[in-house]
Amino acid sequence: MIDGHIHIERGPYTLEWIQRFVDRAVEMQLDEIRLLEHNFRFEEFVPMYDSVRAYSDYVDAWFRRVGGVRRMDEYLELIGKVREKQYPVSIKFGLEVCYFPKFEQMTAELTQGRGFDFLLGSVHFAGDFAFDHTAELWDGEDVDEVYRRYFEDSILLARSGLFDGIGHPDAVKLFGHKPSFSLTEYYERLATELAKSHMYADQNSGVERRCRDTAELGMNAELIQILKQHGVRIITSSDAHVPEDVGYKIRELESRL
Ligand SMILES: [Zn+2]
Ligand SMILES: [Zn+2]
Repeated sequence: MIDGHIHIERGPYTLEWIQRFVDRAVEMQLDEIRLLEHNFRFEEFVPMYDSVRAYSDYVDAWFRRVGGVRRMDEYLELIGKVREKQYPVSIKFGLEVCYFPKFEQMTAELTQGRGFDFLLGSVHFAGDFAFDHTAELWDGEDVDEVYRRYFEDSILLARSGLFDGIGHPDAVKLFGHKPSFSLTEYYERLATELAKSHMYADQNSGVERRCRDTAELGMNAELIQILKQHGVRIITSSDAHVPEDVGYKIRELESRL
């Protein structure tokens, strides 16, 4: 059993902090954990967020709190220390990178050849709109247009060749907004591109943990079926941000596949 998407951002870069994730993984009987950081934590990526910050004061205030607070070499140093030790579970290290079509070049330059075990690409913005922060931010947004941008960008992400996997591939549904059109065609196009790029899809319990009243657990059942028809590998994950959430509903996620 794998938990493929665990954030270590709420603690220091120490072996003691990593050990807490390992301890929880052992308790949850996991074989492998994939630890990561959001790319926006690192100062190198700050320019990528200029236009989304300009679009929303809320996002700008959020970014001032959490963006650019660390440097990537500090993270890489921690990874080196962990790799020198033995652990009862397999540990992989990566990045969750916000995908913006206009920043493919910058993403490649900052992530390739840095020694990460995996790179997970996620769409967290539809154009400049930060759809996954609060439901109130959706006021005044065109729901159909947000869905179209979300899935068109997800397809570009899959085509980009930059990533090993795609994070929470239908997270745009988190606050319960529904498009007026069927998503089947988008699911098909996305699955086709993921298969071509040999990428995996992240079957993630984080959205349900945050938005219990509006979001189902993991991916939509039809999307799962289409991914499987195309032979796309699916990896379960918690999107934990604290050790206590490692392995959250991981078996239930697996049972839906
Ligand atoms: Zn994410
Ligand atoms: Zn995440």
